[in-house]
Amino acid sequence: MTFKCCLCQKIFSLRKQLLSHERVKHRNNKTIPHRHLLSQPSVEQLISYQDAFIILIKKRLGFNRHSVGSKRLSINVFPEKIFVYLFQNEPLFRYNSALRKYHCKFKGEAGELRLKQILNYEHWNCRQDPKTNTTGYVLFANYEGIYEVTFSWAQTELVENDRIFQCGTVTCKFTTDSGEFVDENGIMSNQEYQSEGRTLTHNKNSLITFNTNNNQSNPSRYKPILPRSPLQQLALNQL
Ligand SMILES: [Zn+2]
Repeated sequence: MTFKCCLCQKIFSLRKQLLSHERVKHRNNKTIPHRHLLSQPSVEQLISYQDAFIILIKKRLGFNRHSVGSKRLSINVFPEKIFVYLFQNEPLFRYNSALRKYHCKFKGEAGELRLKQILNYEHWNCRQDPKTNTTGYVLFANYEGIYEVTFSWAQTELVENDRIFQCGTVTCKFTTDSGEFVDENGIMSNQEYQSEGRTLTHNKNSLITFNTNNNQSNPSRYKPILPRSPLQQLALNQL
């Protein structure tokens, strides 16, 4: 039995040789040899998977310190053609032919803007608590660096009774944060509580996160409000 690289037709006697060849020689491959076999998805299909991403991402967004960090979601039955259609033209789209896996990354502010277009929704990456105005959001950039959102697709295969069963799964990984924001016009809604005096830049268009270490110098404008209990909230409302 031999193993052929679908990207350059080179033949290998062992599968692990093919895997290592592809990893080294085609690390940044974007070519999908079977692309012509994937049909164009319908608009309805596209919308339903865009919506699924938006709903599942928003479900991972929360409003307190415990909802901050690495998050992951999977859609267990996800058509390959949808993944390819959504991501194939992106600069960080990659296809591993031997493993039948796709990968696509979105980094920093450019990544956030691009995902607005791909998911067809301006506010795909944030969710606001109606009671406190705290916003949970997908993090792309802060004072510590740049963050990325990755989408990957892999095929699970089952061979049984001379039949091949296939199912594609998509996984999305991202980092979340939460905070409170004022808008650029200076109309204060609220403010993220930070123990140290650092200004966070949130890359959501008209929102800027402020640091709160200068509470004392600006007592009328800045109130530390994260984290807080409902009781503390009540007390603040009565001020
Ligand atoms: Zn090759």
